[in-house]
Amino acid sequence: MIKKWGIIMTLSKEDYKHIPEISDIENKKPIFWKNPDYNKKADLRFDLADIFDADARWQRFAPFIAKVFPETKNDKGVIESPLIKINEFQNQWNEELSDSMHIKGSLFLKADNLLPITGSIKSRGGIYEVLKFAEHIAMTKGDLTYRDNYAVLAEEKFMNIFAKYKVAVGSTGNLGLSVGIAAASFGFRTTVYMSHDAKDWKKDKLRSNGVEVIEYDSDFSHAITEGRKCAQADANTYFVDDESSSDLFLGYSVAALGIQKQLKDHNIVVDDKHPLVVYLPAGVGGSPSGVSFGLKQLFGENVYPVFCEPTHVPSVTLGLITGQNSNICVEDFGLDGLTAADGLAVSRPSKIAGPIMRTLLFASATFEDKDVYRYLARLEDTEHISVEPSATAGFCGLKALIAKEVAMNTPKTTHIVWATGGSLMPDNEKIHNYQYGKTLN
Ligand SMILES: *Cc1c(COP(=O)(O)O)cnc(C)c1O
Repeated sequence: MIKKWGIIMTLSKEDYKHIPEISDIENKKPIFWKNPDYNKKADLRFDLADIFDADARWQRFAPFIAKVFPETKNDKGVIESPLIKINEFQNQWNEELSDSMHIKGSLFLKADNLLPITGSIKSRGGIYEVLKFAEHIAMTKGDLTYRDNYAVLAEEKFMNIFAKYKVAVGSTGNLGLSVGIAAASFGFRTTVYMSHDAKDWKKDKLRSNGVEVIEYDSDFSHAITEGRKCAQADANTYFVDDESSSDLFLGYSVAALGIQKQLKDHNIVVDDKHPLVVYLPAGVGGSPSGVSFGLKQLFGENVYPVFCEPTHVPSVTLGLITGQNSNICVEDFGLDGLTAADGLAVSRPSKIAGPIMRTLLFASATFEDKDVYRYLARLEDTEHISVEPSATAGFCGLKALIAKEVAMNTPKTTHIVWATGGSLMPDNEKIHNYQYGKTLN
């Protein structure tokens, strides 16, 4: 169903038959869609000042984070992941594929799978939104000032205030983990509404942190709708809304500041002769949009974001291609919305992703599930880096770009594949994924 001019209408797929990619999407064939509106002028609702505002908030909270999450102590409470040059992976790729498919420039992995606390990119958005809410409560119901050392927020005086409030979120897994663990660390009462694809170990981990987990035997869009309803019924509940949250978005955008410094440390220049292409897996579209927006603010026309989605769940891509954004879902096009890449099993895009990415997204690629397992095993074999299936989606985008955009694959191009999660996966799941990937290689 789509809403047009406020009227709910049944979608006629015929409306979009003139778009060449639509029949491939309906037939679950991988596509590489170049965005015709890329780099056009547009009024974006955020700017660089919003990113610095978010970054300053992260910094104010660093002493608190270092105190309550001991694994961040060595980094003084800063939540950041390494940018890793993956030469062995690149060498194997180039040995195996024909000359025209070689990666000619440099290849990096942004290892958000190693981010502290949740082992996924959701540490950026989910934790940030909880920090912002905690700061608001601590200033309006307590006596916190911006100049205080925020480590005081771990003291009983503030914990007693936080205990009067509830934080809730709907999630396929990783967002629930990050919001749940962060909110519990302040002493907020916390509820996570989970969709059918959420893994048991994620639910167990949340419960062991004192988080209430409510399970739905349905997809993410349903879990979030139910969660939102329950939260709205209670004035003291704050709902982290993955379908429309600016705070999540800005939390993700801060990643760009880290990348800027890390590229410099690797002696990588980004300018009109040295393009940067960034490959981001998209679920609801919040994290890839936030990161892309941040990078665009810093690198302008010289950075090229590419979104990567499963052929069964190309929700953000469909929203952009049709211009319907969050008014459409993949089921409207006869797709089942099922994928093994659990962070990406979201059939309706967020309200934020489409409008912002309309002019910022260079291209979008869709992939078959078996390819993410294949790359997962290769990353383990060549670089000894273990990630979850969603996290290798970027390699599918890279391959599509090399095949379709020959001019962009030069020795001066830097490619960053964003590895979005996986370090907290239990060993048996890691082994199972790896072994499955090996059978495909
Ligand atoms: C959530 C998630 C994504 C996608 O982020 P969205 O904001 O949903 O687009 C990608 N990979 C992993 C591992 C995730 O958890």
